[in-house]
Amino acid sequence: MVDFRPVDWTVLITAARDAREHAYAPYSHFRVGAAALMEDGSISTGANVENRTYGLTLCAERVALATAVARGAGRARAIAVMTDTSPPATPCGLCLQTMAEFAGQDLPVLLVNLEGEQIEHKLSELLPHPFELPKP
Ligand SMILES: [Zn+2]
Repeated sequence: MVDFRPVDWTVLITAARDAREHAYAPYSHFRVGAAALMEDGSISTGANVENRTYGLTLCAERVALATAVARGAGRARAIAVMTDTSPPATPCGLCLQTMAEFAGQDLPVLLVNLEGEQIEHKLSELLPHPFELPKP
């Protein structure tokens, strides 16, 4: 069922900005915060969590979505991603595929930075052809 309630981007942007403060990024110093509005109305936040092995690094977007899924919050209705780059950084491929797992292709993805620049995409624009398992 499609949820037509409007997304309060101001709340999501603030949550993503706050989450970014908790980023663990001692290696790249590239701090990211994400806030996902879930279909149960809750907001799930995440920050990037790096690891000295690099390969174990978790992105903010995946932390936010996995946290929401783990508590049964359902699928995502919108997500905001806060960085400190201009233009605001685009999620990596792993995160886009994760969004495709837990949201529809019409998921609004708002990319924002600390200066207030905003770019909104649909997930389908950022990942037009997500991986799908063959149907049995
Ligand atoms: Zn990522």
